[in-house]
Amino acid sequence: MSSKLHNQFKIVLLGEGCVGKTSCVLRYVQNDFNNRHLSTLQASFLRKTVQVGNESVNLAIWDTAGQERFHALGPIYYRDSDGAVLVYDITDEDSFQKVQNWVKELRKMLGNDICLALAGNKIDLENKRIIGKHQAENYARSVGAKHFNTSAKQNKGIEEMFHCLAEDILAKKSRDLKTAGRSTGISIIDDSQVEKKSGCCQ
Ligand code: GDP
Ligand code: MG
Repeated sequence: MSSKLHNQFKIVLLGEGCVGKTSCVLRYVQNDFNNRHLSTLQASFLRKTVQVGNESVNLAIWDTAGQERFHALGPIYYRDSDGAVLVYDITDEDSFQKVQNWVKELRKMLGNDICLALAGNKIDLENKRIIGKHQAENYARSVGAKHFNTSAKQNKGIEEMFHCLAEDILAKKSRDLKTAGRSTGISIIDDSQVEKKSGCCQ
């Protein structure tokens, strides 16, 4: 398996409308923020290349075009994803419930093939917080996801979240590669993937 192909990761953003999905992507990829609701992106996904340890990793980050408002986001959107960022708004109870529904669906459809990051977004509105930090962190842990406190507005936690997710995906791919090598009896020589340290938050 070529290391080049191996390092192309698809990440999808999921969550209720208006929680800040598009804002998180634009903050991460273009370091930009807009106070208005951003209904669509120019493209269906944005690319970003990041350095994870010695590896250069290409992320294709897929944002919705607002279909979540019509409950019209199906498996076609998230299939083949290596990772998902599940965004909720810390001031909105329903949005946290929605994230839990997404986790159930993703785990049912993709099992543990997908790495999950939960973003409790809009932490700049801390005084209006409804979802407790510990509650969210405990929930994330219970479903094998990482939790991050983010503000796309103030540029907090966004970079760390995407970076950590990229690390987790890379670590998982390297484990899969080793397992595949063992089960077939074939040694896969891919220096770039061997003996990689596991994700930053494990
Ligand atoms: P999406 O529908 O989930 O893609 O949400 P958007 O990215 O379009 O954002 C919805 C609204 O929330 C917009 O008015 C954004 O400016 C605002 N927003 C996004 N992120 C933050 C944040 O971190 N803090 C605050 N206060 N507002 C945010
Ligand atoms: Mg959007």
